[in-house]
Amino acid sequence: MVKLNQNITKLQSSYLFPEVLRRKKSFLEKNPEADLISLSIGDTTEPIPSLITEAMNKAATSLASKKSYVGYGPEQGLLELREKITAKYYPEHIDPNDLFINDGAKCDLGRLQMFFGQKVHVALQDPAYPVYVDGSVLAGQTGEFCPDKNTYEDLTLLPCLPENNFFPNLDNLSGIDLIYFCSPHNPTGATATFEQLEKLVAFAKRNKAIIIYDSAYAFYIQDPSLPKSIYEIEGADEVAIEIGSFSKLAGFTGVRLGWSIIPQKLKFEDGTSVKKLWYRYLSTIYNGASNIAQYGGLACMSRDGQLELKKIISFYLENARILKEAIDEKFQTFSPLNAPYIWTYLGPKSSWDYFNMLLEKASLVTVPGSGFGHCGEGFVRFSAFGSRENIQRAAKRILTL
Ligand code: PLP
Repeated sequence: MVKLNQNITKLQSSYLFPEVLRRKKSFLEKNPEADLISLSIGDTTEPIPSLITEAMNKAATSLASKKSYVGYGPEQGLLELREKITAKYYPEHIDPNDLFINDGAKCDLGRLQMFFGQKVHVALQDPAYPVYVDGSVLAGQTGEFCPDKNTYEDLTLLPCLPENNFFPNLDNLSGIDLIYFCSPHNPTGATATFEQLEKLVAFAKRNKAIIIYDSAYAFYIQDPSLPKSIYEIEGADEVAIEIGSFSKLAGFTGVRLGWSIIPQKLKFEDGTSVKKLWYRYLSTIYNGASNIAQYGGLACMSRDGQLELKKIISFYLENARILKEAIDEKFQTFSPLNAPYIWTYLGPKSSWDYFNMLLEKASLVTVPGSGFGHCGEGFVRFSAFGSRENIQRAAKRILTL
């Protein structure tokens, strides 16, 4: 008989979002007339601009002809797309040969977790995107779950709270191999300054650690004084991997496209190139992102594509502003509007209590902060993805609470 993979059994409870859906469904069963507004899962709602879908249509149609048909592409992705992404988002910092196109950030996060194996000690922001913890559990990096402490024995959680401006205290931290860092941060929206990222890079250098920098929301940063990439910090290419995504940039959550940057200068302890081994590993378990999606990605990088995407991002940010204005009247928000999320403190009770209160009193579906980690207790995350009409209706309901 096949033995159970024990790492899977170490996962705690259900993944956060299925639990949110379960509660929503049960509420609707009891209140079938309820007019629910979802401000929960961070999924995009605006359609993809037609110039981008047309590029994908064209790429799909070309597969129907003997002359233009292509099969497997390069595992690393189309060179033209890699060149366009580096020129647009990492000018002078990153070589297109250090960028790997993927089928979405989450997929590469999972592959990276397996790539680094079981013997790494992991640290991450608390609260955080749940995939960092759960993927580390699956990769066997966390040790056993300790119910008394409500965390894993070998996992280091770095509290990110209003008291520390949502930036972890790295001063007395040691023995860390991999440190996840997300900016703008899901769920809090906190966006690291140059000074903070310099501290993070200095920490990684001191500890010979590798940063996995998740920049899935970088395009939402409006404040020109804030860094959009870890590579804006000198020396970061010796210690950091950056993961980007087309999901929240272009509404590609269903299309699936993103990238990972593994700089040439990044080395393992024994001097082996991380990039070289990553390429070897990747080409064993992965055959590249869909070519149709990559042509969509190229259209996103065109001048007109960029203009269209900027409009959509401004739309979501205006949604966030409307929501924040209403929530600020009633509760305490912490989001600086560089992300499509409003991180809100409601009080000393459990986040699930506040989730239930918002559901029952205002028919609003949110995400309980505790689902992102202990430090999210008492908080709720409101998502700004939605139609303007729904966001305005939601804002009105919040004002009546
Ligand atoms: N990273 C963060 C911080 C996210 O919030 C998400 C999705 O919500 C992802 C990565 C996943 O992105 P993708 O759709 O590219 O897999």
